Amino acid sequence: MLNEPIIALATPPLKGALALIRLSGQGVFDIASSVFSKPIDREKGRQVLFGLIRDDAKNIDEVVLISYPGPNSFTGEDLIEISCHGSMLIVREIIELFLGKGARYAEPGEFSSRGFFNGKMDLIQAESINDLINATTKEAKDLALHSLHGETSRVAAPLKKKIADMLALIEVGIDFPEYDEEESASNKNIVDGCSSLIEEISSLIKIGKEGRIIREGVKVALAGSPNVGKSSLLNALLKEDKAIVSPIPGTTRDVVEGHLVINGIELHLLDTAGIHESADYIESIGIDKSEKAIESADLIILVSDENGVFDESVLEKCKDKRIIKVINKSDLVKDKEDGCVYTSALNNDIGELKKAIADSFALSDESFITPSFSNERELGCLHKMKEALIKAKEDAEAGLAFDLISVSLQDAYNEARLLLGEEKTLDLTDEIFSRFCVGK
Ligand code: GDP
Repeated sequence: MLNEPIIALATPPLKGALALIRLSGQGVFDIASSVFSKPIDREKGRQVLFGLIRDDAKNIDEVVLISYPGPNSFTGEDLIEISCHGSMLIVREIIELFLGKGARYAEPGEFSSRGFFNGKMDLIQAESINDLINATTKEAKDLALHSLHGETSRVAAPLKKKIADMLALIEVGIDFPEYDEEESASNKNIVDGCSSLIEEISSLIKIGKEGRIIREGVKVALAGSPNVGKSSLLNALLKEDKAIVSPIPGTTRDVVEGHLVINGIELHLLDTAGIHESADYIESIGIDKSEKAIESADLIILVSDENGVFDESVLEKCKDKRIIKVINKSDLVKDKEDGCVYTSALNNDIGELKKAIADSFALSDESFITPSFSNERELGCLHKMKEALIKAKEDAEAGLAFDLISVSLQDAYNEARLLLGEEKTLDLTDEIFSRFCVGK
């Protein structure tokens, strides 16, 4: 049943001052009324009530209960929020009480999913709730907030409308070929229409990719031969002693991770074991993991010591990647060459490296403030929409008949609908909402 009563703890399952429990679905006002010391009256609209939750004669807790009669609620259904004291014993007792009254424990993201299916928000807005909760930088949070307010959706809707307008003109051309070109489509109109949409979508993809960097951060791997100072650099960048530093080659056996923010972008830093042949079984596992970390990184910081000799095998592996070559142990270098990035992890002299990292992910100012389609699903839809429009344009240029051109335009239109979540397929939404936390 789509609107059966569900319950979940919306705050973390930890001891705190308060905890928030949410209930949504058919009959939740009746269920809550049966265990609350005051009447909850749907007809009175939203109510904030202070009272007792009771299991028969036994008091469980003093709480504040807020009632939101549907459809004016987050889920679009009757919704209740109970703020109780933040003891997990109390939370458990209250939840068990409601489970005994016919509610069931909510799935991850089920409250948001109901809001989506009840038309309270589109898919882009629903996804932004998750982004908002998971944001680790102020910049990522601000971008998610733009989307939650519907600013990103407002960019998608006109795209869909423009494609629909072209399809409508084509229909006129197919059904009433006697109409003049002013009112129906011509192949030239279609080529022009597609060209401007392709340009628009290309720029959305570019901004979206930058938005993705702001939202998710980037993976940065420190690589190079053993003993050049990779772990020391990681520690200097993180300002903490995370990785073990030692003059003994092969000390770093596992990939060590840390996080740092430069210019509003979160860097997921990975210190890798130096890549070389090793007879030591444990070390060879570390080297294997390092190779995988290098493969998956967005940026490689390839480190050498004062001799400036870089590991050829790593260079070979990251031919197609962004790479910054760093000469560490600059305190031992007599003549510095122009154009190289020098660091001395020992002396905490890492300014040049931080600047080089910031430059390699230099994002346009607009990408920090422009609502963007920045997750894999949204960017995937944009790419498919663009491909379909390129095909429609090529068909129009080749002088194909309208009904053939309209096939690709229809594909582009369907992608626009998918982008906005107007095609409410359960597979897709299940996949998206399962990434949410329970209670959201
Ligand atoms: P890794 O094997 O590449 O991770 O290298 P480590 O960070 O463990 O450092 C190896 C050795 O080089 C240690 O003895 C460090 O103290 C030393 N070292 C690291 N950075 C510097 C530096 O900037 N200058 C000097 N002189 N020694 C350094």
